[in-house]
Amino acid sequence: MRRKIVAGNWKMNGSKDLVQQLVGQVREQVASLDARVEVVIIPPALYVDSVVALCGSELVAGVQNVSQWQSGAYTGEVSSDMAKDLGCQYALVGHSERRQLFGESDEVVARKIEQVLASGLTAVLCVGETLEEREAGSAERVVASQVQQGLASVAGDQWSRIVVAYEPVWAIGTGKTATAEDAQAMHADIRRVLAEMGAPSETISVLYGGSVKADNAAALFAEPDIDGGLIGGASLKAEDFVSICRAF
Ligand code: PGA
Repeated sequence: MRRKIVAGNWKMNGSKDLVQQLVGQVREQVASLDARVEVVIIPPALYVDSVVALCGSELVAGVQNVSQWQSGAYTGEVSSDMAKDLGCQYALVGHSERRQLFGESDEVVARKIEQVLASGLTAVLCVGETLEEREAGSAERVVASQVQQGLASVAGDQWSRIVVAYEPVWAIGTGKTATAEDAQAMHADIRRVLAEMGAPSETISVLYGGSVKADNAAALFAEPDIDGGLIGGASLKAEDFVSICRAF
């Protein structure tokens, strides 16, 4: 009953050429997939328009980040209303690279979630612990707090436009994945935290991210609380990305 989602986060990679090659290929190859799997392409914001034009009915597009404001004198920012205007359906919020490299606090993340929901998009809240936090035994506490603070103002039917992506920071771009069992345990914990917040936790998709590849996706997606993946590196090659989409 939960939406299965595979989302490709291109990060700051790509070009007009890559958009032309990759989106068309992915679209063609996912056409035969189970319609319950939603495939999302999340390019750098400058390429969203051309990605949307190639999505057809098989794919949807998203942005990697939005501003905490909707319009005005905020040079360099892009708003969720603009993403919506261009035809996006999803926005990532609080990716660990945003938190670590751009100092995004849980308060800023919460404001961005509010903007994304106000624009009518689905927000993908990214959460995850660092290696130090995991080794110190505080992974569950850190992730629970990110979920509670990031989603503090979500209420009522807004929950239907919330997705959570669990991405342990030590697994992102490192080739190290959490074992399917460890990821499952954290996903179940996230669902428990959501239920405590009054959310319809059984209906909210929780994705795993961090070095998901064609050869480990099936084991992860087979876990009961893992509803898909947020894919970085492997989303830049059509063949790899499509194999992951087929791994359910
Ligand atoms: P990765 O990135 O698949 O390259 O590890 C995942 C992410 O950061 O979303």
